[in-house]
Amino acid sequence: MLNDRRSHGLWEQSAPPPPVTESLAGDITADVAVVGAGYTGLSTALHLAERGFGVVVLEAVEIGYGAAGRSTGLVNAGLWVMPSVLKDTLGPVYGGRILDLLRDSPRTVFEIVDKHNIPCELKRAGTIHCGAGEKGAVEIRERARQWQALGAPVRVLEAEEMRAKTGTSIYPAGLLDLRAGTIQPLAYVRGLGGAAIAAGARVFTKSPVERIERDGGIWRLTTPGGSVRAKWAVLSTDTYTSRIVPELRSEQVVVPFFHVATAPLSDNIRRTILPEGQGAFDTRKVLGAFRTDDAGRLIVGSAGALRGTGAAIHRRWALRHIRALFPQVGEIMLEHEWYGHIGMTNDHLPRFHAPAENMIAVAGYNGRGIAPGTVFGRELARHIAGEVALDGMFLPVSAPRVAPFRAIREGYYELGAQIAHLPPSQ
Ligand SMILES: Cc1cc2nc3c(=O)[nH]c(=O)nc-3n(C[C@H](O)[C@H](O)[C@H](O)COP(=O)(O)OP(=O)(O)OC[C@H]3O[C@@H](n4cnc5c(N)ncnc54)[C@H](O)[C@@H]3O)c2cc1C
Repeated sequence: MLNDRRSHGLWEQSAPPPPVTESLAGDITADVAVVGAGYTGLSTALHLAERGFGVVVLEAVEIGYGAAGRSTGLVNAGLWVMPSVLKDTLGPVYGGRILDLLRDSPRTVFEIVDKHNIPCELKRAGTIHCGAGEKGAVEIRERARQWQALGAPVRVLEAEEMRAKTGTSIYPAGLLDLRAGTIQPLAYVRGLGGAAIAAGARVFTKSPVERIERDGGIWRLTTPGGSVRAKWAVLSTDTYTSRIVPELRSEQVVVPFFHVATAPLSDNIRRTILPEGQGAFDTRKVLGAFRTDDAGRLIVGSAGALRGTGAAIHRRWALRHIRALFPQVGEIMLEHEWYGHIGMTNDHLPRFHAPAENMIAVAGYNGRGIAPGTVFGRELARHIAGEVALDGMFLPVSAPRVAPFRAIREGYYELGAQIAHLPPSQ
């Protein structure tokens, strides 16, 4: 039977348990209060605690409840957009800074995993960006050209090598990025939480922040069970922002993204699919992703929400897609399904906000948040520690702006995903 699609699906089943946490009860103080226990918030907390700061993390539900615990687990370098877009959009100073920061960002994730012995199915075999059709192949070659010009260890896989490395012959070309890798995302974020706690951070779960107020030069964050008074407030709630600072959510157009996972495949079949352990995603407008896990399950993802009319459409598409990619799998059973929300900004770049004195936020990862969230969290910690000034940060400070026609666009994306996932004859 498929498990609850509102939960974290397979990741919930195969992740080690979360560190033991409690909900906030009473009034406490800290140097820094971090809201949200995903990659960004927990990386901020870890890097601050390592520097000797008193840090409290307040999480509405549980560690990794938001996008972090639902992601595909592809630890990619850079951002969603092509490298050249960064300088085109942000100018040479910020474009250059963010490229420098993220060009090798998976390494930061791998170092944290190693340093804190986080059991998260880490594979450092790279990722493959699969070019769908001739248009996709052109895009891949341009991406490869741009990264190679920056000295990145990426290369184009032609059709035959693509077939050998992925197990499917439908892609004419792909980009192998050896900086990248895969993780079990919920296991990683739980491990990040454990590392932050071990370093001295206090993490409170089931503690939604309902109010943030200035009180005599100090921030006071109130939850149903208590409050935290802190000099600094970090908002790392991204697309899952609830109750506070709604602007962080409304500057994004939210696109649902779902996954299904098969039962573990037989060894014979498993060896034919991504035999070296890369994770893969394609250039389609309605993006598709696939990878395996340590138990040999095949995990496939694409845009869409597993609710209402979409549930059956997306599920049937996933089965057809798996058979089209990998006819060798034969009849298969889906054992898990789940979905989450990706927040897109207009230019597909994340945002850095400093809405008030000693309050900072990052949001809008556009589906690329594992390595960036981990690295940005470290940079937020460095800013709070006085190691980097506000105007020396990785992105310019901006004010949140409501995404134009947000509701219409969100409906359109789900409808578009459903239409794209209908059988060809319909
Ligand atoms: C289905 C899916 C697949 C993805 N695949 C990938 C991938 O393969 N690779 C990749 O790099 N990125 C991927 N992403 C994107 C990535 O998961 C996100 O960018 C990343 O999780 C953002 O991290 P975060 O810590 O900023 O926010 P989140 O992980 O969303 O965490 C925010 C947290 O804030 C909490 N919160 C909200 N409001 C409050 C409040 N008032 N009080 C207390 N807590 C609150 C939420 O409960 C949540 O736990 C994917 C995302 C989705 C949804």
